[in-house]
Amino acid sequence: MVALVGVPVDANSSHRAGPSRAPAAIRSQLHCGSSNDCAENGVDLAAGRFIDLGDVIVDNEQGSMVDAERIEAAIGAVLATGSGIVSIGGDHSVTYPIVRAVAGRHSGVTIVHIDAHPDLYDDFAGNPLSHASPFARIMESGLGVRLLQLGVRTLNPHQIAQAERFGVQTVAARDFSRFDPLTVTGPVYVTIDLDGLDPAYAPGVSHHEPGGLTSRQVIDVIAALPGPIVGGDVVELNPDRDVHGMTAMLAAKLVKELASRMLG
Ligand code: MN
Ligand code: MN
Repeated sequence: MVALVGVPVDANSSHRAGPSRAPAAIRSQLHCGSSNDCAENGVDLAAGRFIDLGDVIVDNEQGSMVDAERIEAAIGAVLATGSGIVSIGGDHSVTYPIVRAVAGRHSGVTIVHIDAHPDLYDDFAGNPLSHASPFARIMESGLGVRLLQLGVRTLNPHQIAQAERFGVQTVAARDFSRFDPLTVTGPVYVTIDLDGLDPAYAPGVSHHEPGGLTSRQVIDVIAALPGPIVGGDVVELNPDRDVHGMTAMLAAKLVKELASRMLG
């Protein structure tokens, strides 16, 4: 079984609101009649093993530890049933409490993080729970054995220092052709910030950063990871910035591909 859970938080965004409305936009594309319910590996997500549990109830207040604890508890309750999990944000701040829950259930997890940004700020504008900081929190808490960041193209001196401090492995967008997913062993958690893709593929994000990955490259990473994949999230969809729902459709497809790897 794999559960789908929405996490409608955007109060920890540094630039624009909008991702709190992403879960509804992604669900509408998941159920859109323009496609079918099968992932590319042939797994049928309508066969009763992929269950939508709705959204976590949050206040959506900036820097809220209460919201973080609610998210961790909700995801932890799902994992305690033995189910896999795919979460839909929300901004990227949601990944810290989600990974806290995952680390409570699975040891030795490698985190594969697709993003234009490393999200390693010690804090951003005084908010340690900012969407620019989740991987600083995750690494200082020892929640994963390895953090692999793919598609990064915005490193600055502070974040380079943070990456070195935490032993982060960075595969910058310009080096992506040299990345081999088969080198990623053991249990894997996959977190996908949609701005890791090029804005040509994913215009519906708050931070357009040209020079990103293609839809095909990201789907191929999901398919090629040896796994097991124990969970994943798709975050940072901003419906206000989307064009004809195409980024929401991409998010829905990535949800299907992630869920299918846990079911196939
Ligand atoms: Mn991010
Ligand atoms: Mn980003």
